[in-house]
Order: sequence, then C-alpha cells, then structure tokens
Amino acid sequence: MSDPKKLKIVARKGNPPEFTAQTVEMNCGHVVKVSLYGTPDDQREELKRLAGAFCKECWISRKNQRDEIDAADVERDRPYLPVLTGSPKQVRWARNTRAKAIPLIEEVIAEAVYELSQLAAKDPANDQVSAAEFHLNWGSAVSAESEAGFWIQNRSHFADKDAVRGYMNAYVYQELVKEAIAKRSRA
Ligand SMILES: [Zn+2]
Repeated sequence: MSDPKKLKIVARKGNPPEFTAQTVEMNCGHVVKVSLYGTPDDQREELKRLAGAFCKECWISRKNQRDEIDAADVERDRPYLPVLTGSPKQVRWARNTRAKAIPLIEEVIAEAVYELSQLAAKDPANDQVSAAEFHLNWGSAVSAESEAGFWIQNRSHFADKDAVRGYMNAYVYQELVKEAIAKRSRA
C-alpha cells in the first residue's frame, strides 16, 4: 500500500489551487484516480483518508456481504419466515429490508401488547383482548408476506420504530372500527 505521506502534492500556481489529479492505492488494494481540491494540507488529508478507505465497488460488495449475513441470521432464528419470491435483484433487496424490519416489528408489537396488558390490569372492565390480538395478527400477516415487492413497496413503513408503529396502528385501528361496527349491528 502506498504511504500517503510519500505522495507528493503539487500545488498549482495561483491561490487556491483548483484541483490536483492523483492516483491512490486504497485500503482494498485498488488503485483509483482521484481529484483533490483545496490547499496542499487539505489534499494530503484527503489522500490519507482515501488510503484508509475502500473503493466504491469494494465498499458496496462488502456491504452486500454484510447484509447477506444479517439476513441469514434473522432467517435462521425465525424459520417461519417464508422464502421470498421475485426477481433475484428484488429478492436481495427485500431480504435486506425484511431482515431490518422483523426485529423492529417484534419490538413494537411486544411494547404495544405490554401497554395493553397494563391498561387491562388497571381497569379489568377495559377489555383489551381484541386489541392485543389485532396487534399479533398484524405481526403474523406481515411476517408471512412472501412477495419481494411487498417489502420493497412498503420499505418506508419499516424505516424505524415510529414508522412501524404508525403502520401497525393504522391496521389495528381499522380492525377495531370493524369490530365496533359488527358489535353494533349485532346489538
Ligand atoms: Zn476496491
């Protein structure tokens, strides 16, 4: 690997230099052409940073490998998750989204069910059984989604816990409304 300190920075005449073209051997071993901007010190810093970093292709391929390992971990712990269907590219993307989503979904459901149990404990007349069931049903239905397209299209709903909670609550609310209407029509 090239020592960035040994790389000579040629400052152009004029102030400040526009940019210097340079080749640098990156941490992955690939030699890439770079354009350096700023003062010679700035450029030296940037070269040092580049020499310690991976090139774009290697960074992406390492990230894909890590995502693959993460997805395999999530699936191994949850054998009930279906095999995803779609094009190989869609499946790769969807597995990655699902692997990040499933732990969030489990956490959000557990918190919601716990909150409901606390409400029911405070007021036994306040029946929270169907609400808790709807949360669990939602979790089962989402986990059973096998189409890669579902995970890709809904990825914004799985971006973080708040997004997951919002997505889940919309479903639960709908089910509670349906239940209330059914109860009223029976009465
Ligand atoms: Zn590389």
